[in-house]
Amino acid sequence: MKLPSYVKPYPKIWKLLPFVKEFGGNSIYPTIYLREDFYRDLLRDNPHLRSIALLKHEESHRKRQQEIGLLRFLLKNYFSRSARLEEELTAYQVSMQIWKKHGLEFPIEYLAKNLSGWMYLWATSYKNARKKLEKMWEEA
Ligand SMILES: [Zn+2]
Repeated sequence: MKLPSYVKPYPKIWKLLPFVKEFGGNSIYPTIYLREDFYRDLLRDNPHLRSIALLKHEESHRKRQQEIGLLRFLLKNYFSRSARLEEELTAYQVSMQIWKKHGLEFPIEYLAKNLSGWMYLWATSYKNARKKLEKMWEEA
């Protein structure tokens, strides 16, 4: 599919950072950076659903960054665990709808682990993340 010009693969230099490979993408307004495999997949005629859902997820972050400004977004999400959690859940809500519409199982346990771990600076406990994601999945 054709991608907007603000969607780019991670810069080569970033790949040297050991933690980057754990992320599928990042939105740093105005740009959305995606892991090379997802980026390449999205350029194909029939991208995987997972890639499309990832792009929608990052689009959700990008929209929020546009609304409140990148600096405010970053500060808010850095200093507040609840803001960080809410931001991620809002973005997952978008990708969940795609997964559910196509009858796929959403990786709730995996994401609950991420949300309660270093990737999201321990935004919440595993139990709470799981509970919230399960509820969202039910309602998606
Ligand atoms: Zn996210």
